[in-house]
Amino acid sequence: MSGSSGESLTTRERRDTSLEDFASRKLEQLSVQSMRRDLSETERSRGARVCRNGRELISFCCNDYLGLSKHPAVVAAAIAALERYGAGAGSSRLVTGNNPPISVLEADLAAYKRSEAAIVFGSGYLANMGVVPALVGRGDLIAMDELSHSCMHAAALLSGAYVRLFRHNEAQHADELLEASSSERKMILTETVFSMDGDLAPVDDLLDVARRNGAWLLTDDAHGLGIVASNPQVPLQMGTLSKAAGSYGGYLCASRPVIDLMKSRARTLVYSTGLPPASAAAATAALRIMSTDHRRCTLPLRYAERFCAALGLREPESAIVPIIVGDAARVMWLSDELAESGYLVTGIRPPTVPTGTARLRVTFSADHSPEDVEGLIWAFRALAVSKV
Ligand SMILES: *Cc1c(COP(=O)(O)O)cnc(C)c1O
Repeated sequence: MSGSSGESLTTRERRDTSLEDFASRKLEQLSVQSMRRDLSETERSRGARVCRNGRELISFCCNDYLGLSKHPAVVAAAIAALERYGAGAGSSRLVTGNNPPISVLEADLAAYKRSEAAIVFGSGYLANMGVVPALVGRGDLIAMDELSHSCMHAAALLSGAYVRLFRHNEAQHADELLEASSSERKMILTETVFSMDGDLAPVDDLLDVARRNGAWLLTDDAHGLGIVASNPQVPLQMGTLSKAAGSYGGYLCASRPVIDLMKSRARTLVYSTGLPPASAAAATAALRIMSTDHRRCTLPLRYAERFCAALGLREPESAIVPIIVGDAARVMWLSDELAESGYLVTGIRPPTVPTGTARLRVTFSADHSPEDVEGLIWAFRALAVSKV
């Protein structure tokens, strides 16, 4: 009937308009609050150089901490796997997407982390979204560090468990939250190296708290792998292969039964396509370099130490150094000024970090030269933000 189809078109048009209105209004609000985000095309060239808007900058905001994404052995491993297995995995790992390079990677990951077994997911985000709901659910309790990564908050929410946040790095507070709960299953979630602060979680204390309360500790080692030693006693060690390992993919290292359970219960493994074989092969090559090239693994922290000493900042514990500025607009201005001097240091704003703590997040990499670091120190001195 022509009448009704004309009517439904009008309805659709009206909906389209209001959708556009919604998006535009939302974007305007974000702009006013200096919270609008846009993507800048960036070509990562040699070393820590990047090309953006036709200009070459030295990047101090990449998570390729060991410069392995472009390491010849890592690239060669990816090319060989690409030629042999193709570009994509083809399906979920439970169907035909469990290509041979994944098993090799899992064996190497378990050995590297000194755990009984390991399982690889499509990304770190997917690993958390799969692992947490596979272990706890409605009626259970999750105690989580308040500064944990967005995907841990999302995973906790998805699980349906009660979520209580403990004050950043306060194991005592986690203990109180767990003790007060009568839930049958309890889980503690934290990062090992906090992505926006660069500080380390008190993993030993949290292990004690977990033992006392019969809780399971999961640590997200996204920014620790290859940089800071991890504690093999943690029963659930997850992380990503997209940062220091220079590739892509997420993982969980745990005991055999836990890993086997994931194959049946982690939805992001069961219902998502397997990791591309070339990414798995690249990550394996990267892990092998991490296990042998110790000098490379110490460089990021050494550079961070030099930078902090020169600018009178607190001694760093990882490759990440935050310079808290507070105001989001000012952070973006400082970031632009640094770009004018030839350095790429992106500003980090809420909601990635708590309101009022917008910051420059400086990351160091084995790809940098000592001269790159000295240059950045001078650029910061010129901005006179060293004492912020
Ligand atoms: C980057 C990051 C993730 C997500 O890992 P991807 O592999 O990039 O999806 C998870 N947790 C933390 C702490 C991260 O920094």
